[in-house]
Amino acid sequence: MDFKPLPAVYLHSCPNCGGAIKAERLAAGLPCDFCLPRAKGVWGTS
Ligand SMILES: [Zn+2]
Repeated sequence: MDFKPLPAVYLHSCPNCGGAIKAERLAAGLPCDFCLPRAKGVWGTS
C-alpha cells in the first residue's frame, strides 16, 4: 500500500471568488476550479 496525499482544500480562500480552493492551486497562484476550470498552462489566450 502507498499513501496518497489528500488534496488539501482551503475554504473561503479563492483569491477571486472567496470559495474553496485546492492548496496546489493556491500555491500556483491560481483561482479555484469554478473561476478557472481549465488551468493547464494555457493562460492568457483571451
Ligand atoms: Zn474562485
